[in-house]
Amino acid sequence: MHRHPELPQAFADLGIEIPILRALHAVGYKDPSPIQRELIPLVLSGRDVLGQARTGTGKTASFGLPILQKIDPSQPLQAVILTPTRELAVQVLGELKRLAKFLEVHCVPVYGGTRMAQQIHQLGKKPHLIVGTPGRVMDMLDRGVLNFDSVRFVVLDEVDRMLDIGFRDDIRKILGRIKHAHQTVFVSATLEAEVVKLSKTYMNDPVELNVSRDQITVDLITQQYIVVQQWDKYRLLRKIMEHEKPTLVIIFTRTKHGARKLAQRLHADGIEAREIHGDLVQQKRERIMERFRKHHIPILVATDLAARGIDVHGITHIINFDMPDDIEIYVHRIAERRAWAPPEKRYRL
Ligand code: AMP
Repeated sequence: MHRHPELPQAFADLGIEIPILRALHAVGYKDPSPIQRELIPLVLSGRDVLGQARTGTGKTASFGLPILQKIDPSQPLQAVILTPTRELAVQVLGELKRLAKFLEVHCVPVYGGTRMAQQIHQLGKKPHLIVGTPGRVMDMLDRGVLNFDSVRFVVLDEVDRMLDIGFRDDIRKILGRIKHAHQTVFVSATLEAEVVKLSKTYMNDPVELNVSRDQITVDLITQQYIVVQQWDKYRLLRKIMEHEKPTLVIIFTRTKHGARKLAQRLHADGIEAREIHGDLVQQKRERIMERFRKHHIPILVATDLAARGIDVHGITHIINFDMPDDIEIYVHRIAERRAWAPPEKRYRL
């Protein structure tokens, strides 16, 4: 390492080798996040891990780095990463591609909403790693365009959410297709009974990790609530916007219809806002997310599913236009992003 003083020594100390250290240097990661510190050596050593971590903790690189390092480019498909939503798949794939910049590892997405022919064509190019949603991966397996014979690594990202969405059967079928020994990593925001049960069935003596730091995320966020009549919510929202002048904000609604209505209303009032929810075609959702990520769109009106797991830097406000019924969802909404990073000034209403 002394010949490469610019490379991040703290990652080298965890066992990460030069091609990946160069990529880490290129993306500017100097120090591992808490989950990376714990998970990277475990995965490098071959252990199965059940990790409790939210988006924003650096979880993607925590399983991504060791797996990328262990992939043998001379062999066919070796790693399968499943995510609950297409948005998260896009995000995970983007991160892995950046980290694999100096490796000969070919990563391909497998999720619904893209044309079947295009997908099959991409899979024909012999990926070493796929990132996909359970439904589409299952579909590709059934069509015989995916072959799991050489798979050695499986990651289920946001397992709890996958179970919530109803991917239970697909997950079981997919995991059941891998007959030989392999290494498995689950990442989940919560370790509810069903997640633990699934891990017992499909993992070999897993190490359980908890690096969620819920306390810290909450410390970094100023939360306020305002009591308002249903009919007066929109007027109050406008007042809050005038008063707070948020530069990058997500407004959460309970339903797709609600998101559409609210975005239209803001638009009609000359406020630049975009809606994002499950009724939009995949390409459009991706385009909107990309523009939001680049701060080209200041306001996103979103449903939980569409915004789930989305990591965007520089968000100043989260507004719960409709409060969720479930406290977990509330925590996801407000505390998901970059829990371990230096505090930014943020408000949640
Ligand atoms: P994740 O929890 O994987 O969605 O990551 C959250 C964000 O942190 C992403 O934007 C990553 O690019 C970024 N990130 C991950 N690990 C590091 C690190 N060690 N140093 C700085 N940024 C990081």
